[in-house]
Formats: sequence, structure tokens, C-alpha cells
Amino acid sequence: MNRVYNFSAGPSMLPEAVLQKAADEMLCQGNSGMSVMEMSHRSADYEAIIQGAEALLRKLMNIPDTYKVLFLQGGASSQFAMMPLNLMQKGKADFVITGQWAKKAAQEAAKYGVANHVASSADKVFSYIPELDPKTFDPDADYFHITYNNTIYGTRYTELPDTGNVPLIADISSNILSEPIDVSKFGMLYAGAQKNMGPAGLTVVIIREDLLGHAKDITPTMFNYQIHADNGSMYNTPPTYAIYICKLVLEWLDEMGGIEAMYEINKKKAKILYDYLDSSSMFHGTVVPKDRSLMNVPFVTDSEELNAKFIKEAKAAGFVNLKGHRSVGGMRASIYNAMPVEGVEKLVAFMKEFEKNN
Ligand SMILES: *Cc1c(COP(=O)(O)O)cnc(C)c1O
Repeated sequence: MNRVYNFSAGPSMLPEAVLQKAADEMLCQGNSGMSVMEMSHRSADYEAIIQGAEALLRKLMNIPDTYKVLFLQGGASSQFAMMPLNLMQKGKADFVITGQWAKKAAQEAAKYGVANHVASSADKVFSYIPELDPKTFDPDADYFHITYNNTIYGTRYTELPDTGNVPLIADISSNILSEPIDVSKFGMLYAGAQKNMGPAGLTVVIIREDLLGHAKDITPTMFNYQIHADNGSMYNTPPTYAIYICKLVLEWLDEMGGIEAMYEINKKKAKILYDYLDSSSMFHGTVVPKDRSLMNVPFVTDSEELNAKFIKEAKAAGFVNLKGHRSVGGMRASIYNAMPVEGVEKLVAFMKEFEKNN
């Protein structure tokens, strides 16, 4: 069975070298005599894994010592509740509504306080990042939330809002490790691992220490950042195998030259695809050029029938999971770190051929 080029938005492709290493170590990891899945999370063997993962993430993302790194569960979606529970001391936060994930973060926060919508791009199916005017920001907000890369709609911020003393928080589920991010500009960053870091089941939170310790009394113990920070992400059993695979992905990224090197590759991949979309008379990108994501590339033809035919024929040719999200329609190619340049080149060659024949 040949492996396909998998353009899934998430869970998504993992580097083949990582899967191979995991396969080699499946029955026996190091000198432990057991699989990582069978290890006590309190064992020395496992401690080396979780601590190694954290150290590598800190190195690759240049995370300052004043930030905690937490390995949690519950997906990015649990963060939508954890943020207001832990951070809403004054009871209000600002949100930029750039898609469904941003909307969900705001909706969940509204259960615990006031969720102010400072701007939205809903008027044009979230095909752009709205202009932000700091005069409309609440200087008393507990946090200001953005979705850095919008997985469904294929937009990303190229400029961050200046929120002054209000902690800026970003959902980086689909762009973590894909481009340099200045952690020190943020109060908190979070990501579900299944897009660009590893398998589903692991959620990474990077939080500035001064934001810890203010959780509401009603906060469930497992939803309290302070508890996880105080216990080195080991208050309960962490997602041990997902963290192990994440560590292998981080090692792979480090060997590739780190985030700067990966960013160059990602820009190259995105350019190949967008250049073709801009020149094609059949396929069109759906996003305003200046706000185009490097990771998720939605595109359409002018006909539903043609879209369906393309997705079907692409699948048969080994380019899978190209169907767009139901709210946008058409196609979406997610080209995360693990997608090689060659995968995008071959996809574009296939699209050209399809255009010629239809
Ligand atoms: C996938 C995704 C989510 C949801 O993540 P879960 O881990 O499934 O909860 C949230 N935000 C963004 C930007 C995503 O891409």
C-alpha cells in the first residue's frame, strides 16, 4: 500500500520519519523494555520524554522563562472555557470574529462574562482579516482573543493588534511551528496538537506566569491552569503517547533547521499553490490575497459538479482529503509542515492536467 498525499485539515499528515521511528520503537522504547504506551507517567523513562518535549518546544519557539508550558487534554475547544474561567477577573474580554473557532471562543466566554466582538469578517464568509482600530478595544478587558490562523477559511494575521496592557491570546492550533511567533507579545498561546504537532489528544498551552492563580472559585480542578503548572502537567495522567509523538515531531523539526527553515519551506509551498490559483481560469482562491494562510488553502471552481469531479479524481490519483469545509464548499488543501514541497508540486501538476481536460 502506497502512502498518499494527505491534505486533511486535521488530524493531518505526520512526517514519515516520525512514523518510522515510532514504529521502530513500538515494542520497546530505548532500554525500557516496553512501549511508551505501557510506561508509568511517573517513571524516569517517561520523565525524559515529557521534559525533552518541553525543552525542545522552548528551544524551537524561543519561549521565555517567564512562561509555563502545559501539556493538557480536551483539545483547543476546552481552552475556550478554560480562558474565561482562569482569566476573567474583571469579567470581560475582547474577541475578533474571524471564523467558527473565534466565534466558539467568544460564545463560551459569554457564559462567564461579557464577550465583546471588536470586529468580524462574517459579512464576506470570513474571507479576510478585519482592520482593527485600537480605539475600539476595551482597555479594561481581561484578555484580547484572536484566532491567528483560520483553519476553515484559510486566513491568517500578518500583523498583530496592539492591545497595550491587555494580554493578547491567540489560538495557534493550525499555525504553531509553521512560522516564527514572538511569544513575548502574548499573554497566552494554545494549540490542539493534531494539525502541526502530533496526534489528537494533546493540547499545548503556553502561558505567562503572572496570568496564573486567578481562577474563579467554580473552576473545575482539571480546568485550572495553576494546578497543571504546579504539577508539571502531571496532576493526572497526561496523554503520554501523544506527547511522545510530539517530541519526535519536534526532533524532526529541529533537524530540519527549526522554525525559520520550516517557514521558508512553507512560504515556498504556499506560493506554488497560490501562484497557480492566480493564473488558473478554472480554480480560484477564496481569500483576499494579503490575508492568505500558509497552512490552509481553500479554492473553488465555478461549478459544484466540477468541484465534486475534481475531488473524486484527485483522490483516485493519491491526493486525499481535499474536500472543503461544509461552510465554504469547494476544496481546501492543508499544507502543514509534514507536507513535502513535492506533494504540493504534484498536486498543482494534477490540477493543471485536470484544467486542461475539463
Ligand atoms: C482544529 C481547531 C480547533 C479545534 O480543536 P480541537 O482540538 O478539536 O478542540 C480550534 N481552533 C483552531 C484554529 C483549529 O484549527
